[in-house]
Amino acid sequence: MKSLPIAIIGAGPVGLAAAAHLAVRKQPFVIFEAGATVAHNILSWGHVRVFSPWQYNIDKAARQLLEASGWQAPEAEDLPTGRELYEQYFLPLAALPAIQPFLFLESKVLAIGRKHLDKLKTKDRENVPFMVQVAHPHQQIKHYEVRAVIDATGTWQSPNPIGSGGIAAPGEAAHHKHVFYGIPDILGEHQERYKNKSVVVVGSGHSAINTILELDRLKEAFPDTTIHWVLRKKHVSEVYGGQENDALPARGALGIKIEQLVEEDRVNVYTPFQIQQIVGQEGRLTLVGEQYGELRALPGIDEIISNTGSRPDFSFLREVRLSVDPALESASEIAELIDPNIHSCGTVRPHGEKELRHPDKDFYIVGAKSYGRAPTFLMATGYEQVRSIVAALSGDWEAARQVELELPETGVCSLDAGVACCESVAEPEKVAATCCG
Ligand SMILES: Cc1cc2nc3c(=O)[nH]c(=O)nc-3n(C[C@H](O)[C@H](O)[C@H](O)COP(=O)(O)OP(=O)(O)OC[C@H]3O[C@@H](n4cnc5c(N)ncnc54)[C@H](O)[C@@H]3O)c2cc1C
Repeated sequence: MKSLPIAIIGAGPVGLAAAAHLAVRKQPFVIFEAGATVAHNILSWGHVRVFSPWQYNIDKAARQLLEASGWQAPEAEDLPTGRELYEQYFLPLAALPAIQPFLFLESKVLAIGRKHLDKLKTKDRENVPFMVQVAHPHQQIKHYEVRAVIDATGTWQSPNPIGSGGIAAPGEAAHHKHVFYGIPDILGEHQERYKNKSVVVVGSGHSAINTILELDRLKEAFPDTTIHWVLRKKHVSEVYGGQENDALPARGALGIKIEQLVEEDRVNVYTPFQIQQIVGQEGRLTLVGEQYGELRALPGIDEIISNTGSRPDFSFLREVRLSVDPALESASEIAELIDPNIHSCGTVRPHGEKELRHPDKDFYIVGAKSYGRAPTFLMATGYEQVRSIVAALSGDWEAARQVELELPETGVCSLDAGVACCESVAEPEKVAATCCG
């Protein structure tokens, strides 16, 4: 077992960071990436500027390897776009001789299991390698024997549907050509699709806000563009966030800008609106939803942009024994730390190998996927997760246990009821440590 490599699934920021830590610790590894390039998901929104500056976006082991190769780190305080993250950090990192030979692009993991043991079999399970089934280019299927697996596949490729209740609305699939799941490049590649059109944005997170801000800039050049914003929240002000109190000013600025747009009536807001159906009518769409207990129709829609979050894909993990929170679909040990029903502070108690264990020994889900359906995952959280896990897999238990994580708070720190999270909850000490510590 010791001589076998460790498999990393997904070469996003967190999978690449895992590779860097394994390289620094001189542990053999292979990293499989489904896309044609690393950071495939981030590139799909490459035009968007992130809100955390470079200082939070670079993993420590990756920096160590890059600097040894003569790489110059970007300015710590600058805010890169997704594409700049790719060009200035992920691409040079993936090209390092310590990583590149072990990276397989266009290689999608189809299944993972224990060698000769299906999920039902317990005896000797811990001492048996994992088998990873991979689809390489030209439909070549290969099996790899590995001693541990780090699943860093994110959630971006499994977007939530727009139908209320998490189930696709009737008509959603039939009209899929008019629904964009993600953040289109409204001012660039996708301008033709949205200019002078009636566009509905669904969702209430930072992605939705980014989308609306770009649509508003499009509207300046093409005034017949109409922007509708559909949210499930009780009131639109709930999405304004910490604004000036946000420790990441760029994240706070999103809330300030969107509030301004709403106040100036540049966007038509429908909230709380539960989408029930999408109906096609004379080449356009009508969005039918429930608002205050009554059915309401939004007719004359050309395009829908869905920013309703995403969910993990467990389909290739059917043979792995997992422990997943029933509501969040996160690693179960961290659910209470990140549950958006309880708090929204943007911080999370430091956690590492111990909290991310699953019943199948030496199998870990990390990165955005470790949060399941919960939002607000930051790359920096994933970097600390994989530092701790790689330390454990290398036998350095002291380093594995010493988890340190300081995340910038959102400045919201509130319960659903709007009470400051430190003031009143069932287990105040837990939430205080999570939100306000
Ligand atoms: C608009 C936007 C702005 C953001 N801004 C910030 C910010 O300012 N700061 C911050 O810290 N975070 C930010 N985030 C969040 C950040 O992008 C994510 O937390 C981060 O990308 C998660 O990294 P990951 O490696 O876990 O997953 P991902 O980046 O999703 O990478 C997963 C990788 O796995 C690959 N993959 C998937 N399935 C398979 C498979 N079966 N086999 C092989 N490979 C597979 C994918 O192709 C992908 O390359 C932002 C996100 C968005 C959408």
